[in-house]
Amino acid sequence: MNPPTRSRSILIAGNWKMNSSLQETEKFFSEFKNYTDRVFNDQEISHLKSQALQACIFPSFTSLLKAPLPLSFPVHIGAQNAHWEKKGSFTGEISGPMLKEVGIQWVLVGHSERRQFFGETNLTVQKRTESLLKQGFHVILCIGESREERESGKTKEILSQQIQSIPDISAISDPHLILAYEPVWAIGTGVAASQEQIIETHQNIRCLLSEKIGANLAETTPLLYGGSVTPDNITSLLQCPHVDGALVGGASLQPESFASLLRAGSKSLLFS
Ligand code: PEP
Repeated sequence: MNPPTRSRSILIAGNWKMNSSLQETEKFFSEFKNYTDRVFNDQEISHLKSQALQACIFPSFTSLLKAPLPLSFPVHIGAQNAHWEKKGSFTGEISGPMLKEVGIQWVLVGHSERRQFFGETNLTVQKRTESLLKQGFHVILCIGESREERESGKTKEILSQQIQSIPDISAISDPHLILAYEPVWAIGTGVAASQEQIIETHQNIRCLLSEKIGANLAETTPLLYGGSVTPDNITSLLQCPHVDGALVGGASLQPESFASLLRAGSKSLLFS
């Protein structure tokens, strides 16, 4: 495996889960615009404009249409889930073409809360990922082990099974796949994985991915870390090899906090 390079951009993605009403989303982007207009320097704006640094927010479905206000840099907006079929009798689901119709190009798939609470399996994750990649979406596929799995030494086995469920993407032209390693025990607990755990696990993920989709595609697939990322710990997380950004829950809900995460991402580009 090649040593990691910063040929991949940094992505900071905010997963808002079932938080922030339409009104709160509008307030977030209005405050985010005011704040970033005031505090972001030329370097930070330029990283965001060039997409060396990418920002993405996954709000609730009802907020998809309203986010974001025109900003001085792009912020991608994504859906927290989507079905593999394009239409049909699937009550409560939303399809790729429906999202595309309102300008959405990013989708989150297989979040641990979907797996834990809504019966998402590696098979359904595979079906969603394959269909959405074929439709041209940027797909962030979440993987990660539970506390019991880590404590019983099964982390690599579980990640391997989850990575095995990545569809055969060799036939898809220009697949925009992103993997997010989110240890379930670190999500929303205030206890992020340690640098050592992240370094070891991301290295393993890159190798497993290489076996699954081939070295070239694996090398260009961004790997995010998620789980209790905050403005205080993101700098050290972004220093880990094979970490190309972060998927952030709680700390992405406040404009200043999300802006701080982006500023840390911009700084990390200067030192890589
Ligand atoms: C998440 O839900 O994807 C997440 C990482 O949450 P938090 O940052 O709050 O741990």
